[in-house]
Amino acid sequence: EEQQKKSDQKTLELERAKAALEERSKQLILSAKYKSEFLANMSHELRTPLNSLLILTQMLTVNAEGNLTPKQLEYLNAIHNSGNDLLLLINDILDLSKMESGKLSVNPEPVYLANLTTGLANQFMLVAERTGLSFTVDVDEDVPSSIYTDPMRLLQILKNLLSNAFKFTEKGGVEFRVKKAANPEWLAFAVSDSGVGIPADKQEIVFEAFHQVDGTTNRKYGGTGLGLSISRELSKLLGGYIDLESKEGQGSTFTLYLPVNLSLMPGQAADVAAA
Ligand code: ADP
Repeated sequence: EEQQKKSDQKTLELERAKAALEERSKQLILSAKYKSEFLANMSHELRTPLNSLLILTQMLTVNAEGNLTPKQLEYLNAIHNSGNDLLLLINDILDLSKMESGKLSVNPEPVYLANLTTGLANQFMLVAERTGLSFTVDVDEDVPSSIYTDPMRLLQILKNLLSNAFKFTEKGGVEFRVKKAANPEWLAFAVSDSGVGIPADKQEIVFEAFHQVDGTTNRKYGGTGLGLSISRELSKLLGGYIDLESKEGQGSTFTLYLPVNLSLMPGQAADVAAA
């Protein structure tokens, strides 16, 4: 009888512990949900006043001719630029919170690689001219002419990688290459630069939100530290991943690996479409 009592007691304790754990995980899921919703609402509410601030400073600048001193004009430009930075940050946070709550949709369609790369080449050729860096674009001959994926998301990732490559490079230049991956069902988009590089012990954390190699507040390069974490999440939504090879002081190569056909990826496109 004593034995039975002891074992009943144990069962009771175990059940209580299990219930407490279940309660705790429910709370965690709820608080994560509240956090995402809060961020999404907040970002949305912040954008409206910020947009009017941007439009008004723009109007002031246009009408400034002859009415403002050079110093005043300089301040006005600084306000406008800060407003723009803030808008980019808010958009990034909105994207990230949507991804966290699974609300970011993916719309796959046939994407012609020639169109995609020409658009990117034109856009970043201007950056290359402005910064005095070289820029080459290469699409291997044996890649398919079109792939099935979400063009907007793919562009968002590649623009992010290319902007970073130019931002963190002072001499030499940037190369963009589209090539077949080892697996014929996959493609690789490689963005290489001859820039500052990323030390080995930082190569994982740069993909985390708000993490930058230079964490100081008066750092040399602007930015939010969100681009790579957004890109990594987006690459997962497209069924792929991003790989990084880098040597401090020599340069970096970020490679986006993507399946050629998102709809054939188990648990990817179908789930996303259903969500
Ligand atoms: P941001 O560029 O806004 O700081 P990212 O998430 O895009 O944010 O990048 C995070 C950090 O990773 C950067 O601050 C930088 O330290 C490092 N990084 C990203 N791309 C490169 C690159 N091509 N070369 C060197 N460092 C890079």
